Amino acid sequence: MSDVELEKACLICGRPLVYSQTAQEAECSGCGREFTTNAECEDGHFICDDCHGAKSMPVIFYYCANTEKRDPYIIAEEIMQNPAVHMHGPEHHVLIGSALLAAYRNCGGQIDLAEALKIMRQRGSQVPGGICGLWGNCGAGTSAGIFMSIITGSTPLAGNSWRLSNLMTSECLKNIANSGGPRCCKRDGFIAIKTAVPFIAENVGVKMDLTEKIECHFSEHNKECLKKQCPFFVTGE
Ligand SMILES: [Zn+2]
Ligand SMILES: [Zn+2]
Repeated sequence: MSDVELEKACLICGRPLVYSQTAQEAECSGCGREFTTNAECEDGHFICDDCHGAKSMPVIFYYCANTEKRDPYIIAEEIMQNPAVHMHGPEHHVLIGSALLAAYRNCGGQIDLAEALKIMRQRGSQVPGGICGLWGNCGAGTSAGIFMSIITGSTPLAGNSWRLSNLMTSECLKNIANSGGPRCCKRDGFIAIKTAVPFIAENVGVKMDLTEKIECHFSEHNKECLKKQCPFFVTGE
């Protein structure tokens, strides 16, 4: 199987990334630590997930801890507009669940938001970049599952909360898959949110606001945008 060239995305030099089927041990060009990766830029740079998301983590936490907004799509969209958040990347594995946590609390969900956001960051950061294509497990959908696990206090030994957390992820993954590839961290994040809001209302009883017609304003930055095939594409952008 040949390597697939993806977006112009190396944080060091801006050249395209190449993904390989077999992961390799590499030294991060940003922090020097050894890590395992399937991605390398054409110029031989490697960037670990921590370095990729480093600038966005404080933005995600601060915004979510302080917003009074009740619509997780609006919260996520506003964070995505911040230049610290890349077009694609594993920071979305923290971002989506954090936006859900903030909206959930603002719509009456009983949680210690700051504590929940810390746990979200911890767990979301463990979900590697690229696992959508490599594991069949999009990290935006997983992030919604982590959200459910946090608000219900699920563990591997739990009963109903275990069921709800896995259902949350699987409902998101099904909808994300049906929109087709290649991955888009914006589209897949919006689908996860759109799936999560009614699921949460039905199963947890907290009704969050949700923009009726979600629109994406990032398509020009995404070389692999599905354009008119994407449910959120805005004609003329
Ligand atoms: Zn590079
Ligand atoms: Zn690094």
